[in-house]
Amino acid sequence: MKYFIVLFAVCISISAQEIKFLGEAKPGGIVIGKGEQIVSATLDNTKLQIDKNSIFIFGFDRDASGKFLLNVKFKNKKVQTYEYTMEKKEYEEQHLRLASKYVTPPKKLRNRIQHEAQLMKSARAKIGKVKDALFMEGFVYPVDSVDIRATFGLQRILNGKPSNVHNGLDFGGVEGDSIRAITDGIVRIAGKNFFYNGNFVLLDHGQGLTSVYLHMSKILVKDNQKVEKGSVIGLVGETGRATGPHLHLGVQWYKKRIDPMSLLELKF
Ligand SMILES: [Zn+2]
Repeated sequence: MKYFIVLFAVCISISAQEIKFLGEAKPGGIVIGKGEQIVSATLDNTKLQIDKNSIFIFGFDRDASGKFLLNVKFKNKKVQTYEYTMEKKEYEEQHLRLASKYVTPPKKLRNRIQHEAQLMKSARAKIGKVKDALFMEGFVYPVDSVDIRATFGLQRILNGKPSNVHNGLDFGGVEGDSIRAITDGIVRIAGKNFFYNGNFVLLDHGQGLTSVYLHMSKILVKDNQKVEKGSVIGLVGETGRATGPHLHLGVQWYKKRIDPMSLLELKF
């Protein structure tokens, strides 16, 4: 790959407060922090959620670059600052051939697409309200056979035209394979037969972290249902904009697009 990342974390203020970090500060990366007696934390201008065990999470968008400052404030009023620097990552292109309605949808589909976008927006508006770090049991792969068909962040060229970016990870599969929740969560929307997503489920893992599972043949959960890590939430299919049966797994931290692999590879 033609990219490289410069990353470092410097502890500027020296004090006795210690935070353990898991994960990597890089484009599409996620970092989980755990300390003691933390009262607040911010990543630049974003206030982070801190749960009762002083756990917090933050992530970096696919196109993140430059300098980021994490400020953590403790009960004894001491503040700890960490600095992360990263270079913009370059992504490979992926050329795909799709039915033309999926590249330039005809007028008659516009209302449906807009309506579905609105439903997704309402579901996403609930994200960030759960303060608990529901993800602290760790992460599992969403399918049994790990056959990665398209990595995160690819620049897509659809029918010869530069199009949207691939904001997820595609696992090849067979129609009817089980799809599992990557960690504990709450179903924010179980969407049926959306134009692009097909049948899909959006899970809220607390503190702004979400995962979405697209193109299901069958949905096995309902809105607002609590699910546990590894529980089956649906079956692999090819509903919506899909070329063959597969699972598209997308992860976000608020609106930041996160590489699902950066969660799946974490060692708790
Ligand atoms: Zn995909």
